[in-house]
Amino acid sequence: MDSLYDVLIIGGGVIGCALARELARYDLQIVVLEKNPDVCYETSGRNTGVCHGGFAYDTGSLKARFCVEGNRMMGDLAEELDFPFKRCGKVLVGNSRADYEQLLRTMAQGERNGATGLRMIDGEELHRLIPSVVGEFALLSENSGILDPFMMTIALAENACENGVRFDFNRKVTGITRDADGIWTVETPAAYYRTRWIINSAGLGCGAISEMLGIHGYHTIGSKGDYIILDKRLGPMVPMPIYTVPSNTYMGIHVTVTTEGNLLLGPTAEVTQNYSYYGVEQKNLDGLYQEAMAIWPHFTRADYIRTYSGILSKWVNEEGVIQDYRIEIRDDLAPHAVNLVGIESPGLTSAVPIARYVIGMMQEREAFAPNPEFNPERRGIRRFADMTAEERSAAIAEDPAYGELICRCQQVSKAEIRQAIHNPLGVHTMVGLKYRTRAMMGRCQGGYCQMRISRMIQEELGLSPEQIEYNRQGSNLFYGKVREEAAR
Ligand SMILES: Cc1cc2nc3c(=O)[nH]c(=O)nc-3n(C[C@H](O)[C@H](O)[C@H](O)COP(=O)(O)OP(=O)(O)OC[C@H]3O[C@@H](n4cnc5c(N)ncnc54)[C@H](O)[C@@H]3O)c2cc1C
Repeated sequence: MDSLYDVLIIGGGVIGCALARELARYDLQIVVLEKNPDVCYETSGRNTGVCHGGFAYDTGSLKARFCVEGNRMMGDLAEELDFPFKRCGKVLVGNSRADYEQLLRTMAQGERNGATGLRMIDGEELHRLIPSVVGEFALLSENSGILDPFMMTIALAENACENGVRFDFNRKVTGITRDADGIWTVETPAAYYRTRWIINSAGLGCGAISEMLGIHGYHTIGSKGDYIILDKRLGPMVPMPIYTVPSNTYMGIHVTVTTEGNLLLGPTAEVTQNYSYYGVEQKNLDGLYQEAMAIWPHFTRADYIRTYSGILSKWVNEEGVIQDYRIEIRDDLAPHAVNLVGIESPGLTSAVPIARYVIGMMQEREAFAPNPEFNPERRGIRRFADMTAEERSAAIAEDPAYGELICRCQQVSKAEIRQAIHNPLGVHTMVGLKYRTRAMMGRCQGGYCQMRISRMIQEELGLSPEQIEYNRQGSNLFYGKVREEAAR
């Protein structure tokens, strides 16, 4: 049994990490429990990475409110926490009269929601912005943007950690009870935790945790989206994401540029109850090809680097209609527990406003004293790939490891891998290092650098080869030697 925490957060996705960071502003003992060996392993690392404008959600909904707020603050947040974000704008292209009318309705809804920078543009302006797009006209959202979802989540978590929040990984919550004195006991296979407050930000696990809290009856469904990642050579042709005409529940297939300059095609949208299947089927690849070609016909299958998918948790009512975010404290059923259900898109954009809203609800029940030592700033790893020639020379003079490239595709130096290995959260899986440095994310997908990185982890942390894990517990890279070294 561990010490008594003030707040225990279940889930190290972008919502849990935003909560941890925002709660670190107060004088509280906080722990985050995450079932995976790192943050950002589920939906928060498996999305499009778009900072949405706030026009595609019902007026008056929490989704609309938090999305508009999150969009507005994203520039300052990215600067404070040092993660990649570009307010590049985005277009929703149309071709027919029906498309035009739907886009006008979308724009009007956006304006009612408080979104700014929305206007209809004709074909000429559309093609001036993106010469290669197919479309007669578009709704332009000037304030939409793109961000790096891994780095955003990691930055929130690292800043929380640097401000005293504890992150316990490989801790799957399997049971929750409330004692007569109002203290919650949280069970994981590795340890028990005691806490005064508990927050359910478990993403796809929100329904299960809600049941454990004694709040019954939420029905959630998964919606799976598949993507194809294209080579960086095409990135400059798409200066901003290209979307089709959306509905209020599905944004449609889009062609999105990432902050790194790759292109994403996707996502599909399929209902699923299997929350651990991330495979991408051939029929979906073929469908993505066709639909993306209709708006941006400038890629071939040779441009594919890899595929991935993500699953959203949507809360639906008895008729199967998708509901707004549910964020509640049920004083009658589960006092001092915040229950977040159905935090689907635009959850990434909305993460910090959601966290602040939650804290507001908690403070209606208990005043939190400020943490006088809270530091909102966090600096990430200085990237060789982003430096000018002069900056590279200076960096190498200061640390010669900047002069040794470990990942050639993404130009990641030994110095960056080393800094990543010693990250504040203590994560040292191969995938954890990939998210932090982008090594292994290029054309060769780690063919060149993976073994070098694994050797660096061993050297830096004094681990044996058998202790190196790819992503999850048990995903060991090595199980012993095939042959012993010849005796010298
Ligand atoms: C295809 C797709 C595209 C999207 N595109 C965008 C976009 O462009 N812009 C945008 O704003 N939003 C987008 N979203 C939505 C956004 O990604 C999510 O709303 C957001 O990531 C949800 O974050 P979360 O922290 O709630 O969930 P998660 O990231 O899933 O985090 C929850 C965490 O809880 C952990 N957990 C679960 N159960 C337990 C347990 N029992 N014990 C311990 N830990 C547990 C999980 O391992 C997980 O790490 C997209 C989503 C998808 C699927």
